[in-house]
Amino acid sequence: MRYEQFHQRSIDDPEGFWAEQAQAIDWHVPPRTILDDSDPVFRKWFVGGQTNLCHNAVDRHLAERADQLALVAISTETGITREISYRELHREVNAFAATLLELGVTRGDRVVIYMPNIAEAVFAMLACARIGAIHSVVFGGFASHNLAMRIDDARPALLIAADAGMRGGKVIPYMPLVAQALAEAEHPPAKVLVVNRGLDPAYVPVEGRDHDHAALRAAHLDADVSVTWLESNEPSYILYTSGTTGRPKGVQRDVGGYAVALALSMWAIYDVRPGQVMFSTSDVGWAVGHSYNVYGPLIAGATSILYEGLPTSPDAGIWWRICERYGVRTMFSSPTAVRVLKKHDAHWLQDADLSQLQYLFLAGEPLDEPTAQWIGDALSKTVIDNYWQTETGWPVLCLMPGLDMKPVKPGSPGLPAPGYRLRVIDEATGEDAAVGEKGVLVIQPPLPPGCMSTIWGNDERFVAGYFSHFREPLYSSLDWAIRDADGYAFILGRTDDVINVAGHRLGTREIEEAVATHGDVAEAAVVGIHDELKGQVPVVFVTLKPAAAAGSVETVGAALQQCVCDQLGAVARPAQVHVVGLLPKTRSGKLLRRSLQALAERRDPGDLSTLEDPAALEEVRRVLAGPVAA
Ligand code: AMP
Repeated sequence: MRYEQFHQRSIDDPEGFWAEQAQAIDWHVPPRTILDDSDPVFRKWFVGGQTNLCHNAVDRHLAERADQLALVAISTETGITREISYRELHREVNAFAATLLELGVTRGDRVVIYMPNIAEAVFAMLACARIGAIHSVVFGGFASHNLAMRIDDARPALLIAADAGMRGGKVIPYMPLVAQALAEAEHPPAKVLVVNRGLDPAYVPVEGRDHDHAALRAAHLDADVSVTWLESNEPSYILYTSGTTGRPKGVQRDVGGYAVALALSMWAIYDVRPGQVMFSTSDVGWAVGHSYNVYGPLIAGATSILYEGLPTSPDAGIWWRICERYGVRTMFSSPTAVRVLKKHDAHWLQDADLSQLQYLFLAGEPLDEPTAQWIGDALSKTVIDNYWQTETGWPVLCLMPGLDMKPVKPGSPGLPAPGYRLRVIDEATGEDAAVGEKGVLVIQPPLPPGCMSTIWGNDERFVAGYFSHFREPLYSSLDWAIRDADGYAFILGRTDDVINVAGHRLGTREIEEAVATHGDVAEAAVVGIHDELKGQVPVVFVTLKPAAAAGSVETVGAALQQCVCDQLGAVARPAQVHVVGLLPKTRSGKLLRRSLQALAERRDPGDLSTLEDPAALEEVRRVLAGPVAA
């Protein structure tokens, strides 16, 4: 079928369209109503239907593909590769689910998972789904304060952690960070389930708190835990993402809608069918990891490859040898990873037999044309940009080679995915922007299946943050965009103070709050500036307290970088720190971050009519011209 017809039908007859798509998954009880949009913001899909993500990802495939590989977990850090069939996955997930039950976890309880990109993280997620517990995976690269904030918001019954992760050959102990986070949190869980990889010799179990995964697994290896059927709109998981306040938002996902949307995306967008192989280089801590390392490929009956390690270690050929070895059909990665590879010779990609590889999908940040061109030439494969957000859980803009491949337009992530009625709204007038005119990319409700249901425990923030920007209740993506005459969209960056570092979303406020914990700092402003490799990097401007120790200006830069790494993790490490006497603010006291960003990127600072004290800008210019504190 043609893309145009397919998409149009999803808009004109959403109930008919999604009722058909819903047949791709198993229902314990079929839905009574396909769409309840009596409240357009809190729409509900597949109402009354009962299903389960773990059943659809695992049990359902046992009849036909028990011996097929479900998951291949490769670590070039430890040198261990684990090949896990659907039968073995079923056994591991049952043992894990029995372990959760023994630890007292029940339906609706939250379970925070703080793990590296290893098979046990996948077992843990699926085990939660099996028993109706709500998982919240926290990216293993986040530090203790980030973990503590998420614990306090989710209030988990259990934390699952590994003793350590590894990066570039270096062991990163997790348990000291867990201990700090539990001490900082107001609502710490009483129990921690520890997957001890034997990487951190200093780890000593805490009596009464820590439970050993290996021992519990052995005790439950033959367990048979029945699936808990959930109403389609019950929460399946919470995934925190950054917004404009210092507090992360818990994106809440449903069960049935998510499964149906992923099932559709697997064949239509990623062109992966049962028995085929998908390799997503993401981490289970991110939205892509949830959807295309875990649930999507498994719901589709495909093989999913999970990778712990660097793209260039032991050498830049590693990913491509994995593609050759497992006959990967579709690969999914990020522009930053490609820019890292671009520093190496293209022969590393070409030495492998990539005859099975059909596509490289890239997402998470803008795909610049030189990067797309380089990888397209180096691989001689179709490179497809796709745009989505943690909130949506699957692509908003894409091309759909599994259905009807449309031409790639450089610089554009393509056309609306099925079910998305996209508009570009002129911020000033609230009207639709003309073709080629810049506006805010919005989704006309109802949001399609798979998109967030709400913000965990905070419906008000969901409405205020996403649906209150215009006269009509439209979902704002908080991204600027333009559309061309063929309907292709081009993304022009965020409308808010969120920055995108190597595809990871960071709130400038979170970094400012981390910096402000340093005793010498009076005030901080953080902006993202362009970076050749990572897309954007954080840059800090601070004023110091009058009582700051003499000599602080020299030492404060490194101290503030450390502060951010300790609290938030190395992903948020500021690239530069500048000490200024005054920060540019409006007369009403708002920080002029955009002007700061423009100056740091050596651009025109724009409209300064609201600036309170012009001396502040001069000061910033002067400091930027001088030596950097860090
Ligand atoms: P996250 O929720 O962390 O995946 O971040 C989502 C944000 O990343 C979007 O709102 C965009 O600002 C940006 N983004 C994701 N994919 C793309 C893409 N293909 N092109 C441009 N920006 C993107």
